[in-house]
Amino acid sequence: MATTDPAAEALPPSEDSADGIRFEGVVKRFGDNVVLRELDFSVAPGERVTLIGPSGSGKTTILRLLMTLEKVDDGVIWVNGRPLSHMKRGLRLVPADEKYLHRVRNDIGMVFQQFNLFPNMSVLRNVTEAPVHVLKLSRDEANERARELLDLVGLADKADAHPAQLSGGQQQRVAIARALAMQPKILLLDEVTSALDPELVAGVLDVLRNIANETDITMLCVTHEMGFARDVSDRVLMFDKGQIVEEGSPEKIFSEPENQRTQDFLHAVL
Ligand code: ADP
Repeated sequence: MATTDPAAEALPPSEDSADGIRFEGVVKRFGDNVVLRELDFSVAPGERVTLIGPSGSGKTTILRLLMTLEKVDDGVIWVNGRPLSHMKRGLRLVPADEKYLHRVRNDIGMVFQQFNLFPNMSVLRNVTEAPVHVLKLSRDEANERARELLDLVGLADKADAHPAQLSGGQQQRVAIARALAMQPKILLLDEVTSALDPELVAGVLDVLRNIANETDITMLCVTHEMGFARDVSDRVLMFDKGQIVEEGSPEKIFSEPENQRTQDFLHAVL
């Protein structure tokens, strides 16, 4: 029996649409507050997209929807060809269950403003826990991979330290290594430098630039660091009140913004 759920009916019959991220007509409300209004956008595999815009414009909600920490009220979000709301059972589409969402989420790594490291574990252990328990890597394999990642984030000599012995910037670099250890295809970055003392910001941004240069991971970033957005992004999306008001290359958005709201926003933050 076919489902009569309108979101399911809007889905194409197969799950093999393109990789990357696609939002189709996504609506998200909190009570009467319409946070995202029929939002459409895509991020291609390997693309680096930055979301900018005033506080409260819906940027973090987009990342939280992708992590299935929130649910859409209407529309469909696709991650690597799979809808977040529905899964196939035989020829039918049925609401997604936790096991399916877990598989979809395994393609996504997220780094938050707060680093949320396990305080009682060494840096190496912080990076290896999920690969051992979720990806079922052997402890040796996970350690080897974690040491490579700690090298990538400039912390090869801190493997045995505990989080409390590190600066905020170093802790955030461990959090980045931890996210990458799960071998995600997509990395979501939510204001990853906002909680840091100003002198520690550059080191974290350098690490992210390095990752952007050395890997083909898809990146979706929310940031107030316009210099970083300009350096790393292939495309910048300017949000206001839950809608994209302007999008384009960083050169276009930062040098020749056309929309008045983009101009006002950049004037206020630059
Ligand atoms: P941004 O990241 O652009 O600052 P957010 O996505 O965090 O914006 O928030 C967009 C809007 O959604 C804001 O008006 C915010 O108050 C509201 N909002 C976000 N999360 C919740 C929540 N859990 N409950 C109620 N309102 C929320």
